[in-house]
Amino acid sequence: MAQTLKEGDVLVIPCSGIGKVHGLIGREATYMVTDEMASENTATLCLALLVKGDPEAVDAVKSHHCITIDGCAKACAQKNVEISGGRVAKAIQVAEAFRNFRGAKPGTATALTEDGWKITQAIADSITCEAANLRAQESAAL
Ligand code: SF4
Repeated sequence: MAQTLKEGDVLVIPCSGIGKVHGLIGREATYMVTDEMASENTATLCLALLVKGDPEAVDAVKSHHCITIDGCAKACAQKNVEISGGRVAKAIQVAEAFRNFRGAKPGTATALTEDGWKITQAIADSITCEAANLRAQESAAL
């Protein structure tokens, strides 16, 4: 399930994109945010639980703002959060982030290069900023 999830936490949910560097970047960016950059107010959960309709996971996405990170335009994470009735506050696609890094060689499905880590960091920065904005909006509304 989700890591220890508190009220007001923002859920960061990457797609399961196995076999592509895009999926690895999405997962690594998620861990950067939930384990390091914003560990106090973000958490993640396993997309597969949502796909199979796990009640705890479904409740989590309905009761927390979600930021989804998808490897490609098929947007599996975004779509499954939406199908579950979740609130997608921001949908990020790794493939789009590549546009700012033309010519970059990000690595493989199992290992990132220096370019790959740069793209990962840029996505993590964007997620952290968005999560802070969402928390600020929620605090202002109280
Ligand atoms: S969004 Fe794209 S990369 Fe991610 S799981 Fe779906 S098909 Fe794979």
